[in-house]
Amino acid sequence: MSGESNRAYTGKCVDCGSPLVLYEMDFEKNRRVMQCTRCGLYHFYKKDFFGKWKLVKVGKVSDLWRKPK
Ligand SMILES: [Zn+2]
Repeated sequence: MSGESNRAYTGKCVDCGSPLVLYEMDFEKNRRVMQCTRCGLYHFYKKDFFGKWKLVKVGKVSDLWRKPK
């Protein structure tokens, strides 16, 4: 028991290290977007097989998910 079951929503900006806030949640596709409270950078997370959130990519725009190249 590490007591971090509810800490899944927390994270730190890869750029400036500031806390992230939830920007968008997609339950259907098991993914979410977090935004940095300081620099506004978006962090794209995906839930893996074990139900853990993994950082997939980081970007300045919020719709990177919708426009896969
Ligand atoms: Zn930041």
